[in-house]
Amino acid sequence: MPWLRSSAVVAAGLATFVVAGAWYVSAKLRDGSDDRPPLVAPQKEQSMKSDTPGQSPEKQNSDKQNSEKQASDKVVKTDEEWRKTLTEMQYYVMRQKGTERAFTGEYWDTKTPGTYHCAGCGEPLFTSEAKFDSHCGWPSFYQPIDGLKDKRIEEHADRSHFMVRTEVTCRKCGAHLGHIFDDSPQTPTGMRYCINSASIKLVEKPGDAKPAESAAGPEKK
Ligand SMILES: [Zn+2]
Repeated sequence: MPWLRSSAVVAAGLATFVVAGAWYVSAKLRDGSDDRPPLVAPQKEQSMKSDTPGQSPEKQNSDKQNSEKQASDKVVKTDEEWRKTLTEMQYYVMRQKGTERAFTGEYWDTKTPGTYHCAGCGEPLFTSEAKFDSHCGWPSFYQPIDGLKDKRIEEHADRSHFMVRTEVTCRKCGAHLGHIFDDSPQTPTGMRYCINSASIKLVEKPGDAKPAESAAGPEKK
């Protein structure tokens, strides 16, 4: 009996050892699995990082593209494409540097509030706030939408027609817009951006149009 008891003790001890061993192993495994997540996590981080750089180069590229678009990206079309997209008058003025006849253009006498965009590429170029009546027969602005140094507008010396003038073009698409003259002391800048109506498109200011509509529609009540 003592032998049996001792063997039982041994068995119990063995069982304990086995259980302890199993626990140790499982703990080790758990440790291992605990270790793994950090291992996995860096991998994940890495893969995320590699994803992020994978995304961010694209993003950076698109950001670059966007910034380039904002900064220097130009609308480039072939002559044929411009011919297709522009009216005859627009093509003549914008791509061939023609000038519409005075008092014939769409906007020479327009006082509607809004923003004048390039008819070639849609870039906003002038606002109605800077439009003034110069009596010259063409829409006249004393400054571009962002002031005299507006990068949307490019200036070029123009020596055609036995005159020395400063031509203005849309930076984005290169469209000829008109000329600048410093003959308007009645304006805040003294300058006159003499622009062909054919080169611009007025986008009317909705804020001003709506109150006018609601004011004009008393039956709306
Ligand atoms: Zn343009």
